[in-house]
Amino acid sequence: MCFSPSDSGSFWLVPAPVLSPCRGHGRSVRFGSDSPLPFSQAASSTGSDMTSISRYRSRALRAEDSEDKEYVGFATLPNQLHRKSVKKGFDFTLMVAGEFGLGKSTLVNSLFLTDLYKERKLLNAEERIKQTVEITKHTVDIEEKGVKLKLTIVDVPGFGDAVNNTECWTPVTDYINQQFEQYFRDESGLNRKNIQDNRVHCCLYFISPFGQGLRPIDVEFMKALQDKANVVPLIAKADCLTPSEIKRLKEQVREEIDKFGIKIYQFPDCDSDEDEEIKQQDKGLKESLPFAVIGGNTVLEVRGQRVRGRLYPWGIVEVENPSHCDFGKLRNMLIRTHMHDLKDTTNDCHYENYRAQCIQNMTSKMNADKRVESPIPILPLSTPAVETEKLIKRKDEEVSGRRHTLLLCVNVKWRKMTHFVFTQINLKTSSCVGIWIIWAINVTLTFE
Ligand code: GDP
Repeated sequence: MCFSPSDSGSFWLVPAPVLSPCRGHGRSVRFGSDSPLPFSQAASSTGSDMTSISRYRSRALRAEDSEDKEYVGFATLPNQLHRKSVKKGFDFTLMVAGEFGLGKSTLVNSLFLTDLYKERKLLNAEERIKQTVEITKHTVDIEEKGVKLKLTIVDVPGFGDAVNNTECWTPVTDYINQQFEQYFRDESGLNRKNIQDNRVHCCLYFISPFGQGLRPIDVEFMKALQDKANVVPLIAKADCLTPSEIKRLKEQVREEIDKFGIKIYQFPDCDSDEDEEIKQQDKGLKESLPFAVIGGNTVLEVRGQRVRGRLYPWGIVEVENPSHCDFGKLRNMLIRTHMHDLKDTTNDCHYENYRAQCIQNMTSKMNADKRVESPIPILPLSTPAVETEKLIKRKDEEVSGRRHTLLLCVNVKWRKMTHFVFTQINLKTSSCVGIWIIWAINVTLTFE
């Protein structure tokens, strides 16, 4: 992704050449050093010859050389882990939900400096009324400092647009459950080496800035999701509100979240021995919820610096200016500080609950009915040797029984035929002898 000047003198976000090969239906983006933004600045050393992997390896070897003989070497274990994880790459799935037109796609593009919605078709009012909650997935491969991230954005367009929104969150919860189910199947399958993790790690829920707090549909939606995903509430288009209005709306939303018992994502507490600065950052993050965000991908000149923002007749709203909105806090939380915790919570809490529920259902079904349709393929049990012996014996008996019946049928036919022949040629005396011979043959055949 890079920035290029537009005709009007301001800078616009344009797609950069793809540097790494495409994977799946996603695209690859490598952040360049020409971006003025902190997220991209971190990527400025991407072109360096020494990758982070080789750097860690040589650092470990240097440490080994310099240490005394008592140095065993297990201090390099974190480095080994780091190397392995970097090699494997990371994946993260983010869901965005909320009413149409609240700036979801603009914010996602601003967060990841990419245009994920190029092929989006905007629907007219009539189409939007009929539209169901259709879930779309966009995948992009991002690379920064040699670290690869496969980012998936799950979009829930049209949510809340229809006249009748009853149970409109069901497709969303079904989607999340499907991903859990797929993961459960893969995990229980034979090949567990390359399991794709498509579970939703975080759901950004957009709240309208024009209301007086949460609407009933917001409450219902968040409640439906709370046990399945990490819900992070956002106040959309914060530039439509004054600072005092934002403060009031935030308080109102927080109160309603408490009142309705909505479980949103809880930031983990800082360790007590953590730096004072980190503790303050953590406190600030918790107090900022719900984050008031502004999305915009236009690059403008402000005080001699290139910034992303929105240009109005009365001035410029800067997306990354902390005094304008919480965009920076949200991005730091999502990407820099809490991405791993979001994944851990998904795995250890939401997925674990799903898995436990699934196993419990299976066990109770199995108890009720021995033959159940299980989500995990049940392997055939090996038959004990005694059982096999019995089975073979039974089959042998069946076969010999069938042979005996067949022979009896043949005998009866033979007898009828010979009797008919002897009566026809009128050999009354010799017929007795003949019958005796045939009877003897029959007896021999029966006992064979
Ligand atoms: P979506 O339907 O929720 O994905 O919304 P879009 O991202 O398509 O945005 C809808 C409109 O809102 C577009 O015209 C955007 O330029 C505008 N928009 C997006 N973010 C903001 C914002 O933070 N503030 C304001 N005022 N407008 C925004």
